[in-house]
Amino acid sequence: MPAELIDGRAISKKIRAEAAERVKELVARGLQPGLAVVLVGDDLASSLYVSAKGKATEEAGMYSLTMRLEADTSQSELIARVEALNDDPRIHGILVQMPLPKQIDPDFVIRAVDPNKDVDGFHPINVGKMLIGERDGFIPCTPAGIQVLLKESGVKTPGKNCVIVGRSNIVGKPMAALMVQNNPDANCTVTVCHSQTADLEEHTRSADILIVAAGRAGVVKGDMVKRGAVVIDVGTNRVADENSKTGARLQGDVDFESVRKVASKITPVPGGVGPMTIAMLMSNTVRAAEMSLR
Ligand code: NAP
Repeated sequence: MPAELIDGRAISKKIRAEAAERVKELVARGLQPGLAVVLVGDDLASSLYVSAKGKATEEAGMYSLTMRLEADTSQSELIARVEALNDDPRIHGILVQMPLPKQIDPDFVIRAVDPNKDVDGFHPINVGKMLIGERDGFIPCTPAGIQVLLKESGVKTPGKNCVIVGRSNIVGKPMAALMVQNNPDANCTVTVCHSQTADLEEHTRSADILIVAAGRAGVVKGDMVKRGAVVIDVGTNRVADENSKTGARLQGDVDFESVRKVASKITPVPGGVGPMTIAMLMSNTVRAAEMSLR
């Protein structure tokens, strides 16, 4: 039987509706949560992500501020803008869209964001809190969304082998930090693979839960997956497709057709992890506003 699809669109709608309810409660108490999204340059994909985030923020009833800066903006100018947002009482969450132009070091920008407004969860203070299992920080949206997808799809994680392909700071490493925690939504035995992993297949075949964030279209094939595994495909690779109007389509890091035959559950691309990332951003922003009242 082919794997059951994990419907990220449906689950993300539920998370966004919950966020919108919490916004109403805050507005009734006189506080409208606000999210600022900063884009430097005119990269098309980034611009589309930023527009989608602004739209979702408004749909949740929040104040949305989109700041579009020139591609040649200096690091000090960007940091000054971020610091102004740190001090802006209308803004509870700040997101600086990555990647940034070459003249800007992303680490400096990440550290400039007030940790209490860091709804991306990239500031070292929030990364540290996540690692030690403190719950009053912010968790990066993509791994947080994946954990929600697993929970909402009824996947029992305790005691399972969770293998993560990819060790980036935005997906692989925080995903590992979440799944190893001592709580009922985690408690996994975690393996993290990367481009230097000696025998990728050996590890992926041991996975009960396989999370692939390599940024390489179709790198995981059906013969690399254990029968009955749950497979989460984070990849969003633009590949040429002459049948598509735009000449391209999105493809995951997982070879969907072959993996679907052996997995028990799988996320599609698009419609799996992607919608969860924005939903968790909404959820984090509402929480930042709630925390500002404490
Ligand atoms: P990244 O920073 O490029 O990291 C990719 C990781 O995969 C690296 O750790 C790399 O190893 C590893 N890797 C690359 N090729 C490999 C191979 N053949 N075997 C084993 N490991 C390999 O990418 P990212 O930012 O984590 O993103 C990963 C993918 O997820 C991309 O397609 C991205 O577009 C997508 N993404 C989607 C969402 C969403 O919301 N849907 C959010 C974030 C990212 P090294 O460290 O050794 O180089």
